[in-house]
Amino acid sequence: MSRAVLAAVMPAPHRPVEIREFREPELPPGGALLRTALSEVCGTDVHLWHGRLSGVPYPIIPGHVTTGTLDQIRGDLHDVAGDVLREGDRVAFFDVHRTCGRCLACTAHRTPTRCPSRRVYGITDSATEGLFGGWSQKVYLEPGVIVAKLPAAVAFDAYIGGGCGLLTSVHIIERAKLSLGDTVVVQGAGAVGISTAALARRSGAGKVIVIGGPGDRLALAGRMGADAVIDLDTTTPAERLERVLAHTGGLGADVVVEAAGSARAFEEGVRMARNGGAYVIAGHYTNVGDSTINAHEHINRKHLDIRGCWGSEVGHFLRALRALERHADLPWAAIGAKTFGLSAINEALEIAGALKIPKALVDPWQ
Ligand SMILES: [Zn+2]
Ligand SMILES: [Zn+2]
Repeated sequence: MSRAVLAAVMPAPHRPVEIREFREPELPPGGALLRTALSEVCGTDVHLWHGRLSGVPYPIIPGHVTTGTLDQIRGDLHDVAGDVLREGDRVAFFDVHRTCGRCLACTAHRTPTRCPSRRVYGITDSATEGLFGGWSQKVYLEPGVIVAKLPAAVAFDAYIGGGCGLLTSVHIIERAKLSLGDTVVVQGAGAVGISTAALARRSGAGKVIVIGGPGDRLALAGRMGADAVIDLDTTTPAERLERVLAHTGGLGADVVVEAAGSARAFEEGVRMARNGGAYVIAGHYTNVGDSTINAHEHINRKHLDIRGCWGSEVGHFLRALRALERHADLPWAAIGAKTFGLSAINEALEIAGALKIPKALVDPWQ
């Protein structure tokens, strides 16, 4: 007889999240069940709640990045290196699954994050199909899902403090093609911005400047690696540009990263990059409207390289684990400012939506 599992279900946009009882699934060969230790409430979950993402198969169990222990395995389960995974192992899994490996995006274009078959736990998997999200006491890991052991130095709260924002940041650093000594401006002091500041610093940046707010997030950005911070709430766009120019000898930054999700941030960011610099757009995960820039002044004449950054790949997930292990001294866990049980998820969404804390965590056993 399979046991009962409690999960928080988002029935539809703008509707309260409710706790529902599921049954543990019958595992197929190669399938596993994860006992959730921690999941998170990220910006995506707030977007899901506000109905800002298209093609979401509500009802869903949100929580796309999750960590815990392997509760049950049927048959053999291996990590990507071929090492055997066992019940009781502390693991994380890559939330993206069913990437086909055969389509144009996967093969010729080498953009697997744009594969049309791709599905994501907690976002594009419906609760009608089972336990496909981390706001649940247990998560079904279907055959083929990439599972990795957490390094001994990485606690559950450090992994989830980094969470999806850290995976995105690993991708951002790759897209930014940083050179030693580069000055990097990060627009946004949310989970993505803070992790990007940390990784830019450890990737050899000469100076990392974070623009955002409120003050406690900027303070955390400083602890994670920002050399300078600019408070969005107490400065004008002209003052922010002036500050960036002052930090860069009047030249502008080598690399600007947009992790703010604001159309105005893009307009500011192109002005902050130096001639021949690069601008990585990672925060426009939903449509926040049009930006107005002058292509002559800010792109063509400037010889600016603008790069999008969409989703993450297995390599980003694996490298995020290595980064957490190598930089275990950083306060990753502090990004996950507060932990909520399933019955308090609506409150967690309100707080996350109001941007009161960088990230809320979910402990479904609390
Ligand atoms: Zn594909
Ligand atoms: Zn997320």
